[in-house]
Amino acid sequence: MQEYLKKKHEEEQKIIRDKMKRIKHKILVLSGKGGVGKSTVAANMAVSLALEGKKVGLLDIDIHGPSIPGILNLAGQKLEAVGETIIPVKMSENFKVMSIGFMLNNEDDALIWRGPMKNQVIKQFLKDVDWGELDFLIIDSPPGTGDEPLSIIQMLQDADGAVIVTTPQRVALSDVRKGINFCHKLELPIIGVLENMSGFICPKCGEVTDIFKSGGGEKMAKEMNVPFLGKIPIDPQIVEACDSGKPYIKHFSETQTAKAFKQAIGRTNLFND
Ligand code: ADP
Repeated sequence: MQEYLKKKHEEEQKIIRDKMKRIKHKILVLSGKGGVGKSTVAANMAVSLALEGKKVGLLDIDIHGPSIPGILNLAGQKLEAVGETIIPVKMSENFKVMSIGFMLNNEDDALIWRGPMKNQVIKQFLKDVDWGELDFLIIDSPPGTGDEPLSIIQMLQDADGAVIVTTPQRVALSDVRKGINFCHKLELPIIGVLENMSGFICPKCGEVTDIFKSGGGEKMAKEMNVPFLGKIPIDPQIVEACDSGKPYIKHFSETQTAKAFKQAIGRTNLFND
C-alpha cells in the first residue's frame, strides 16, 4: 500500500511538473492577515499583465473566502470539464481564471473542508486544469501560513516567489514577518512587499491623510532585507470596483492609486519579461 501511494504521488508530481513547465512565471500573493487587500492585489496584478498582452492565469486557492469571482464579475460561473481536464473560466483570450469559488455550491460549503481535502483540490488545480502556455500564473493564497500556501509551494517546487501584501499598522506588520520567515524556510524567494491602504488621497484637494499610518511596510522590508514594491493608497473606488466586478486597474486607470499599482508591478523585473 505504502509503495502504491508513493508511486501515485510521484506520478502526480511528474504530471504537475510537466504542466508547470509550460508556465514561465508562478507567483504567489500572500498576506499575514485577511482584509489587507491581497485578493485585490492579485486580481489587479493579473488584469494589468493581461492588458499588456501577457498570457495570464489567475488561481484563487483562498478556500475560506474565495473573492476573485466577485472581483472579476464571474460569480456563479460553472466549470466545464473535458474528460479529466477542467476548463478554466476565460476573462479574455489571454486571461484564464480558476477559483475554488467556482466549485462551491454555496459559501458555507468551504467550512467543512479539512486539510487533506484542500490538498486534493489544490493538486487538481495544478494537475487537471487546462492552463496551456502562460507567461504568468498568479496565485491568490489564503492569509497566513497554513496548509494551502504550504501545499502549493511544495507541489510547484519552482515557484518564482511571493508578493507579500500588508497594511502599514504594526499589527499587520508582525504577521508579515511570519510570512517572510515562512518563505525563507521553504526557500521561496520574496519578490517584494507591497504596502496597501497606505494613506488616503482626498479626491477633492489631493491632500494625503495617513489613516492607517504609512511607511511601516517599507521600514519592515528594509529591516528584513527584502525588496519593497511600493505603497498603494486607499481609494474608495476600489471597494466599488471590487463589489461591482469591474477590475479597478482597467476601469479607473487614470487614478493615482491605479498608477501606484502599475508602478509597484513594474518595480519587479519579473513582470517586464
Ligand atoms: P484580502 O484578500 O486580504 O482579504 P481583499 O482584497 O478582499 O483583502 O480586500 C478587502 C477589502 O478592502 C475589499 O472590500 C477591497 O475592495 C478593499 N480594498 C483593498 N485595497 C484597497 C485600497 N487600496 N483602497 C480601498 N479599499 C481597498
